[in-house]
Amino acid sequence: MIIVMAPNSTQSDLDNVISKVKSQGLDVHLSQGTSRTIVGVIGDKAAIGQLEMQHLSGVEKTVRITEKYKLVSREFKRNNTVINVGGVEIGGSKPIVMAGPCAVESMEQLMESATAVAKAGAQFLRGGAFKPRTSPYDFQGLAEQGLKMLREAADANGLKVVTEVVDQRSIETVASYADVLQIGARNMQNFQLLKEVGRAGKPVMLKRGLCATIKEWLNAAEYIMSEGCDDVIFCERGIRTYETYTRNTLDLSAVAAIKELSHLPIVVDPSHGTGRRSMVRPMAIAAIAAGADGLIIEVHPHPEVALSDGEQSLTPADFEEVMADIKRVASLLRGED
Ligand code: PEP
Ligand code: MN
Repeated sequence: MIIVMAPNSTQSDLDNVISKVKSQGLDVHLSQGTSRTIVGVIGDKAAIGQLEMQHLSGVEKTVRITEKYKLVSREFKRNNTVINVGGVEIGGSKPIVMAGPCAVESMEQLMESATAVAKAGAQFLRGGAFKPRTSPYDFQGLAEQGLKMLREAADANGLKVVTEVVDQRSIETVASYADVLQIGARNMQNFQLLKEVGRAGKPVMLKRGLCATIKEWLNAAEYIMSEGCDDVIFCERGIRTYETYTRNTLDLSAVAAIKELSHLPIVVDPSHGTGRRSMVRPMAIAAIAAGADGLIIEVHPHPEVALSDGEQSLTPADFEEVMADIKRVASLLRGED
């Protein structure tokens, strides 16, 4: 349920509403807009069903949200959420780009990548320091040493850092270096991890699970938001279908679906979405045209020797071309320069 407070309601009306909700063993999530406050009621469905709030002073109306996900839904918040990451806006009028290697391999590789992607106009440096690999014998990442390199290379080039957190144990460490915490596709339904990352005090980018429906994905985001994190970014990275030519099937209809169902921003990963370098550019263009708020793209200075995902990584020169195309599409459709 959401409780919409009247524009002229007072602080004591709000306090009264909150204490009534809490007295039933339920919790609240406040969304304070410029003209009105909205109170989201969170907790046991049966207890919410018993709540009668519409007659309280200062309450304009109550809306029973039919879906299980509430905080992430458009019903809860009509306007798009814009997430400010140290001055970079995600979900605003300009699409943002996160770029860099699949994995942090060395300072040299990372610095070269960061310099190239910054020069081409990206705002974020990506790169895994903890890698969730299908085989335990594949390169697993440089762990904290890799995080330090990410911070250093990003700072040297005026970039923000987005990197994956694979387990609860490493959240604090990753959060101390990264600007945005990435939850990988394989962990989208690791509910304990989602809850704990929601308490880390950093924006979270939630990748869609390999076999997740859009509703499951929305519910995963709800786990993060229900722990107090308002800054969640969806990332469509392709789902598993019967198709084998591409590594995954990039579901661009998810961009439109998320825009209908949620107020949160969504970015698209055409690298994992296709698994093929040649397909990154067309899918990046299509994603921006479909309304995505940004892209995350793998870029490696020497893809042929990359320790992971070389076949889908762009060279810095390819990436520059993609950036130019994205700018053109964004300005055509949304009118920015
Ligand atoms: C990645 O972004 O490096 C990654 C592992 O992606 P995904 O979780 O989407 O497979
Ligand atoms: Mn990768």
